[in-house]
Amino acid sequence: MTTDVTYSAEDLAAFRAAAGEERSRASVRRAALAEDFDAIVEATLEANADDEHDPEGATIGFERAQITSMLERARSEIADLDRALGRLDAGTYGTCAGCGGRIATERLLARPATTTCVTCAAGHARVSRRASAHERVTG
Ligand SMILES: [Zn+2]
Repeated sequence: MTTDVTYSAEDLAAFRAAAGEERSRASVRRAALAEDFDAIVEATLEANADDEHDPEGATIGFERAQITSMLERARSEIADLDRALGRLDAGTYGTCAGCGGRIATERLLARPATTTCVTCAAGHARVSRRASAHERVTG
């Protein structure tokens, strides 16, 4: 696989559009989840006021935990995409955090927040992501 390819202006524009689109999708999702979360908190308060045994408590607790984790994921996706947009601005976008090579255009379009090429992503499944990102953050 060639890693020594530079992106065209069209590619870069497409990356930016893809990242922006993904980001707005994630923030719509985040807003919806935040609403769900509020509704559940409200339901919990009502259930507690209504009934001491609280038969729905477990379900509500489970739903709440699920929404919390989905909310977390949406937030971290947005943060990742913000970093990706920052890299686009800085001109460092598409550089693999693992090997320093260029990440394939198709991969970036499919996953605009990605920081590693396919090879490294496969190889890094076992290695700590933090260590690889730390390794190659040269301007
Ligand atoms: Zn790589």
